[in-house]
Amino acid sequence: MKVASVIVDVPTRQTDRPFDYLIPERWRGVIQPGMRVTVPFGARRLQGFVIDVKDHSEIKQLKPIEHVLDVVPVLNEELLDLGRYLTETTLCFAISAYQAMLPAAMRAKYEKTLRLTDERKRDALPDELKLLFADRMEAAWKDIEAAGLWRPAQKAVQQGVLEAVYEVKEKAGKKTVKHAALAVSTEQAKDALAALPSRQKDVLSFLLEKEEAVPVAELQAALGVSSAPLKALVDKGFIVISDVEVYRDPYRHRTFQPSEPPALTEAQAGALAAITASVRAGEHRTFLLYGVTGSGKTEVYMRAIDEVLRQGKEAIVLVPEISLTPQMVERFKGRFGPKVAVLHSGLSIGEKYDEWRKIHRKEVQLVVGARSAVFAPFENLGMIIIDEEHETSYKQEEMPRYHARDVAIYRARRHGCPVVLGSATPSLETFARAAKGVYGLLELPERIADGGMPDVHVVDMREELRSGNRSMFSRRLLDELRLRLERGEQAVLFLNRRGYSTFVMCRGCGYVIRCPHCDISLTYHRAGERMKCHYCGHEEPLVPRCPACGSEHIRFFGTGTQKVEEELTKLLPTARVIRMDVDTTGRKGAHEELLSRFAAKEADILLGTQMIAKGLDFPDVTLVGVLAADTMLHLPDFRAAEKTFQLLTQVSGRAGRHELPGEVVIQTYAPDHYSIELAARHDYRAFYRREMMMRKAHGYPPYYYLTLITAAHEEAPAAAKAAEKIAAYLRKQLSEDAVVLGPVASTIARLHDRYRYQCMIKYKREPNVTAALKAVIDRYQADAAHGGVAITVDTNPYMMM
Ligand code: ADP
Ligand code: ZN
Ligand code: ZN
Repeated sequence: MKVASVIVDVPTRQTDRPFDYLIPERWRGVIQPGMRVTVPFGARRLQGFVIDVKDHSEIKQLKPIEHVLDVVPVLNEELLDLGRYLTETTLCFAISAYQAMLPAAMRAKYEKTLRLTDERKRDALPDELKLLFADRMEAAWKDIEAAGLWRPAQKAVQQGVLEAVYEVKEKAGKKTVKHAALAVSTEQAKDALAALPSRQKDVLSFLLEKEEAVPVAELQAALGVSSAPLKALVDKGFIVISDVEVYRDPYRHRTFQPSEPPALTEAQAGALAAITASVRAGEHRTFLLYGVTGSGKTEVYMRAIDEVLRQGKEAIVLVPEISLTPQMVERFKGRFGPKVAVLHSGLSIGEKYDEWRKIHRKEVQLVVGARSAVFAPFENLGMIIIDEEHETSYKQEEMPRYHARDVAIYRARRHGCPVVLGSATPSLETFARAAKGVYGLLELPERIADGGMPDVHVVDMREELRSGNRSMFSRRLLDELRLRLERGEQAVLFLNRRGYSTFVMCRGCGYVIRCPHCDISLTYHRAGERMKCHYCGHEEPLVPRCPACGSEHIRFFGTGTQKVEEELTKLLPTARVIRMDVDTTGRKGAHEELLSRFAAKEADILLGTQMIAKGLDFPDVTLVGVLAADTMLHLPDFRAAEKTFQLLTQVSGRAGRHELPGEVVIQTYAPDHYSIELAARHDYRAFYRREMMMRKAHGYPPYYYLTLITAAHEEAPAAAKAAEKIAAYLRKQLSEDAVVLGPVASTIARLHDRYRYQCMIKYKREPNVTAALKAVIDRYQADAAHGGVAITVDTNPYMMM
């Protein structure tokens, strides 16, 4: 085997294929598919993934591989295949697919070292390496490479004697903790005890008892000693103190209470039985676990995971980023302790890499994480769970534009294991498949708590205005809030910010201040009196006069959380309010801190955006208020009604989850819209039927497939012309049954200084569609590099703007 096929790190159409390289003699038999290498490419040197190793190549003059970056493959065969599947279905470049599967640390600049996994394993090293590691724990990769010790090093890594460690350069590097351990044999230590002063005796006895290295801090705390006796023992040669690497555990400051599982309800037991049957049979099956909020879905997940772990297999639990709250993590850590790795965007690059390494080294059997955790490199998967499966954050909005649900099902097929999709408001696509019997439908129709579903009151804000109430709070909501304050109960107020923000408008002439780059209105931020663009980050000071007419009557309109907080404290001066939005939760750990303050009842009202809509579970919350329910209804998106229904249902689910009954007040200007009416009645099925009719009538998913093609260019006519050509080309290539819409200017007509035009294809069965789209990408890819039109193709769009 002397030829390697390599996918190089240049995300363009022209380079989106394997290139062959010669494997130099010293690496034959060592280089395997899934390892990263550096190779010469034209005048450059590039990173790449080896995807195949073979004996021959069509190419005569092969250039050799320059360096090998991994000791063992970082992508296994399954993930390599998954990359091919992603390229085919999302039309991404292979390199983008492979990189999406690895932690960011491995994409950054790093130094690689090989380190002994344990001081005591030094003897197990292959002879060639013993000298190199004689007096140290680790050796630089480049030294091992230079000494030609490749093969023994790889063997040692495979045997778990050495491990490869990537130190990300811009990061603080490894985290170590001082440990103390015996430097002499147990017999020698026991013999020495009698002659030692009492404190030194304590320390030595402690270490004798433990029989392993102990963190110095722990030892000192346990014995109540200073560092003096330790130092004395070191000087006498009885103990050694050394730095031991520890993982940067982001939850290290928390202690997790092991939780006792409750006895299951009948519905829970039924659902669990179906899932575990599939686990035991080793058969792939996709289940929809459809259960109202608080019906005990998470408990079912945990029992099913129990079964998977008992079978010696591994499980992945996907949770939307915003639901990955400390409470959620705590439930899993409490039940499964050190078997769990947690992956979410709040972690630093180094922390994420540590968690990934635990998975790669098989130190954990369970991963709880956001979207990208679906790529966890487990090799013996027993189940994948996707909680809140309807959440659109499971779709990645950059290359590779994958949906975690599709990846989960692909992997589960390969591993012969079930996928469990859980939701109180399943996506229409998923419920339609369950209704047809493609997925198994498991139901938890009732809440665990006796109270049942909360009462929901819909308040017509047009009526409020007519009767002279100009406030953003209806009389009903205000009365309910006062009642909570009197009773010492808590309330959650929810303000949807999507498509609805505090824009700045001139009352004189109607001029609205917009972002100079993105063509969307700027949002007013009271801190520092500034205006910000929420798409590109552009920021400028609030203007005192209207730029168009010079009037001083320029104000901010709409409602932001800050404005609500202001009015709230005016109307209810005694209320203690905690506000949670992008401004108050920017700092690391702030999110958690605010929630624990609310949980400790340091506030009466929690006011926030989407980030408080789900996952939270506070026993004393008996009122949930939705300030403007219909803002999302007016987004230019065919899922607007579905999103509104889901959001209202989720938000209502925050009330009355425990002994105290809950109430919900929804304020809206469209009280008759079916999404609002049916959410208030908790009638998912009626909503499903109604919405399916609409989708059918207008030719949307799940009845039709959609693909969105966007053309962007600094000059509007160039973008428009490209979009027109593409639409014309597609109309010619596709059958009569396919509908090509557009081109039209995108809703966000300008983003990052580029004008955007889009066209959309609706189709049912269209064998040519992939080939046609690839041709479009090919045609424009060459251009983009030279300031031409940039084309993006989304084969399953969730962002319609
Ligand atoms: P969901 O995930 O459907 O929102 P949870 O699993 O969070 O529901 O359950 C809601 C609450 O009920 C939690 O506090 C949970 O600990 C509790 N719970 C779940 N199952 C049971 C059960 N069988 N018996 C008693 N309490 C339960
Ligand atoms: Zn004006
Ligand atoms: Zn902008």
